[in-house]
Amino acid sequence: MKTKIVLSLILLCFLSQNNAHSSDEVSTHFKIALKLNPESQHIYVNANLRLNPDKPLPDTLNFSLHKQFTLLKVAGNGIHDFMFDKEAPPVSVFMREARPLTIILDKNINRNQPLDIVFEYEGAITEWPENSANVVTEDWVELGLYLPWFPSGFICGYFTYEIEAECDPAYQLRSYGSYIKTNGTWHFERTIPDFDIILVASKSLKTMERESGGYRVFFHYESLQDKTAESLSNDLANILDDYATWFGKDKKGEIFTVIQSPRDKGGDYARKGLIVLSGLTDEKYITQHEQFVRNLGHEAAHFWWNMAPAYSWEDWLNESFAEYSVLLMIRKMFGAEAYDKWIADKKATVKNIPPIWGFDRNNTTASEGPDIIEANLYSKGPLLLHQLSSRIGDEAFKRLCHEMVRTCVSSTDSFLSLLEKNHGSETRDWFEDLLKSY
Ligand SMILES: [Zn+2]
Repeated sequence: MKTKIVLSLILLCFLSQNNAHSSDEVSTHFKIALKLNPESQHIYVNANLRLNPDKPLPDTLNFSLHKQFTLLKVAGNGIHDFMFDKEAPPVSVFMREARPLTIILDKNINRNQPLDIVFEYEGAITEWPENSANVVTEDWVELGLYLPWFPSGFICGYFTYEIEAECDPAYQLRSYGSYIKTNGTWHFERTIPDFDIILVASKSLKTMERESGGYRVFFHYESLQDKTAESLSNDLANILDDYATWFGKDKKGEIFTVIQSPRDKGGDYARKGLIVLSGLTDEKYITQHEQFVRNLGHEAAHFWWNMAPAYSWEDWLNESFAEYSVLLMIRKMFGAEAYDKWIADKKATVKNIPPIWGFDRNNTTASEGPDIIEANLYSKGPLLLHQLSSRIGDEAFKRLCHEMVRTCVSSTDSFLSLLEKNHGSETRDWFEDLLKSY
């Protein structure tokens, strides 16, 4: 069980990271009106999508939507035709109930201009795979792209969104970060571009909010005692405070959200600044405390470690630094013995794994592909950083990290140059050799 939590989080972490600077651009934006009825599992959506293309739009736009929705409308200037093919095979193994919704554009429209599309659809959503992280039940609603409840498709990259949601007043609704409820309508807004829209509902959701290290931390919880919620919020606040001290404080105002899902199937997942924990109980937060701190601390570390491209081997600069950051945190909270155990466990997983330098980050199809990716990013990289930190000293290592963040180091070459500048060519050559040979 313990391993399962880590694995599911790690796999989804692959999806959650991407280039950190996309928030400066004008993003594609969803404006969604939602009517949710958990009791009948019925969902009505009116979604206005503004596509802001950074390259010319193709002739055909491919979206997907849950097969139980009935499409009421697809409209917009420049739309020639559309088709929602419920008989088609699933669009992805991760989205078994998703069916293709294809939009064909007019030949004559300017493909570089923003395009507005209105989608209207509704349906009772009663089918999802047994291990789905997204469900619609009377007791718990968890909407996200696995269902998928919004027209999902990577047509113009990541997007921002706003939602106005109506629901039986007995229910509490939450999404990322904070929420507003006025005259019975829930308002949510996400201004950091991402690839998912998470919305949860239940009659017993509560929120604990706090500020820490310049961050706003929201914990939405469903079936925990307040004191457990408080101890998790404290842990996260301490982690963010320490990271801010170690790696720099120049990212004020960002939001970190934790959602406790009462699902017992489907696992955990992470998005930018969000983590959804499914296996959390009052008891487990005590008995598996270190594991939960690891999961929270790894995701929190991505506020700092998100500068390198996620789909190349250089992703080790994101993942291995995030993982090593949380090992430093574990040593601080649980002592040297706990840290040594994590190091020993990681050593056991890197045997017969090719070096990090140039490894195939995208090889998820070969049988050993995912194991190599996981071992390199989450075990070998942190082990090399452990060696580096032992060689130059912990304080110097943190100063190096601080400077990496400040100067936005996004490639291994610039990391090695910085290492050489601070610690000489011998240390650089030694570390470069480890990356190429270990
Ligand atoms: Zn990660």
